[in-house]
Amino acid sequence: MADPLGLMCVHAHPDDESISTGGVLARYADEGLRTAVVTCTGGELGEIVGPGMDVDAVRPRLAEVRRDELAAALGVLGAGAPRLLGYRDSGMVGTDGNSDPASFWRAPFDQAVGRLVAQLREFRPDVLVTYDAFGGYGHPDHVQNHRISLVAAEACAMPALYPEAGPAWRVRKLYFAAIPKTAILQATAELRRRGLPSPFGDAERVEDIPMGAADEEVTTTVDVVAWLARKQDAMRAHVSQISPDSFFLNVPEDLQQAAFGREWFIRQRSDVPAPVPEDDLFAGLR
Ligand SMILES: [Zn+2]
Repeated sequence: MADPLGLMCVHAHPDDESISTGGVLARYADEGLRTAVVTCTGGELGEIVGPGMDVDAVRPRLAEVRRDELAAALGVLGAGAPRLLGYRDSGMVGTDGNSDPASFWRAPFDQAVGRLVAQLREFRPDVLVTYDAFGGYGHPDHVQNHRISLVAAEACAMPALYPEAGPAWRVRKLYFAAIPKTAILQATAELRRRGLPSPFGDAERVEDIPMGAADEEVTTTVDVVAWLARKQDAMRAHVSQISPDSFFLNVPEDLQQAAFGREWFIRQRSDVPAPVPEDDLFAGLR
């Protein structure tokens, strides 16, 4: 019997997988599909907010701590073991981390693509998810993830490229994870109405929202309401990064479905006919 269909999500830092694709990872694993997460950096520069954590003691071993947190989150989501590309966190744009030679931002492009091609050829996903060209919010590691994923998704299918990385494999659908600007605006308005802070600032018009995708770009909306609790458990596993009083874990219950009950994607290409809008990353494949 052929392998079940596979989904691979490429993320920049441990925790991104749970926040942006935790719902689809849990849902498709429950449907019996194969799921995996590649994480480009160790997240060494993340702010340490875990309750009771001694920041000075944890900082030097944060990559190790976050790797364990990632393993726990992937366990919750049923997405296998961590698959790390082995680069250092580059930090927010304009910070010293951007010039660290071991950072993902400074990685030799060809080398980084090759490492991802090896992951793709080993796991053989039918569907690959990465970020858009702005990386969702402009973080250098997210932008770099977009660049290498786009190239690796194509290079993977060419046997002459990276022959040492295993037999060629064709990814059949390629997506960018996205949040539509109007969804951000609605959440912001609703939080403001309730006197709660919004992580997206206080924009009142779509034009004022610096992140997110234009609604018309979004091709694919996946319902993950039934997997909300799992998604939250996965986020909670990132103890050092997401404090119990964080926005992500404290959205009022009646707003949770609106805030996290759907995950959105921009389809970049599909080898199979599947009309858009679609409600399934595997539409046309099964
Ligand atoms: Zn990130």
